[in-house]
Amino acid sequence: MVIPQFETFCAHIEEIYETCQEFQDGKAACYIPQLDRVDAELWGVSLCTIDGQRYSVGDVEVPFTIQSVSKPIGYAIACADNGPDFVHKYVGQEPSGRSFNELCLDNNNKPHNPMINSGAIMVSTLLRPELDIADRFDYIFKKYKKMTGGEYLGFNNAIFLSERQAADRNFALAYFMREYGCFANQNIDLVSTLDFYFQMCSLEVTCESAAVIAGTLANGGVCPITGEAVLDPEAVRNTLCLMHSCGMYDYSGQFAFKCGVPAKSGVSGIIIVVIPNVVGFALYSPRLDAMGNSVRGVKFCKELIQKFNFHHFDNM
Ligand code: GLU
Repeated sequence: MVIPQFETFCAHIEEIYETCQEFQDGKAACYIPQLDRVDAELWGVSLCTIDGQRYSVGDVEVPFTIQSVSKPIGYAIACADNGPDFVHKYVGQEPSGRSFNELCLDNNNKPHNPMINSGAIMVSTLLRPELDIADRFDYIFKKYKKMTGGEYLGFNNAIFLSERQAADRNFALAYFMREYGCFANQNIDLVSTLDFYFQMCSLEVTCESAAVIAGTLANGGVCPITGEAVLDPEAVRNTLCLMHSCGMYDYSGQFAFKCGVPAKSGVSGIIIVVIPNVVGFALYSPRLDAMGNSVRGVKFCKELIQKFNFHHFDNM
């Protein structure tokens, strides 16, 4: 067993969960009504080890949208399908040092990395572009379903429609990139490209199913529940590397310093945390801090790292 004394470990997790529950600061995202209306008090933590041990506490069966956590997953699939060299002809590997949706490109006129909006829009154009839009969605949905080990995966149409309506900045980013000749295919249809990007943001998970996704990443792309190889290990390594440096919005550098683990957060209040070769966590609490990360989620990570030697540079 990868975590011996699993019950003791889970008791610590529950303690940390309770400590974090006291935090009431922050505000749920309000740029679309569906996120604004969510119960801000929700708080759930689930984990899935690489050998399939599970533990959950709190609101772990409530569905919510995956939002920006779709960015590392889309990138991992694109790398596995096309190879990283091809993907990185179109998107960089550098933290942008700027906000996630800022209108800017790197010195080579590429989006800085796949964890920000421009980079994720770019990556979405590399996901089976030869298929029609319905088949592309199906393709991605099936990949996710395998990563969740067949557990809960949904699609929130109201959120998709709202994202699409509040899309000025994402359209600006897409037009900006087309102006600079960034896309593999310059005749690309930007409306369907952005629809596909919003559809991926609008996929729904629960803490429990998202923990299996995180566990699959922790396990080098093999789902710990089904044993199925969903992604190749190189694609997962690349993904974890970029989550580590760019996964937590403008807090990424501080998070890497303080917590030292690959993580990705999304505006719904989700954070996935991956301890390579050990365990994946999904944290969900809608109240966000000024950087856009879940307040309780970040607090949980800090407590976790204090209690266990999961920081990348622990044990030195
Ligand atoms: N749907 C959001 C956007 O593209 C994703 C935001 C996020 O989770 O960072 O603006």
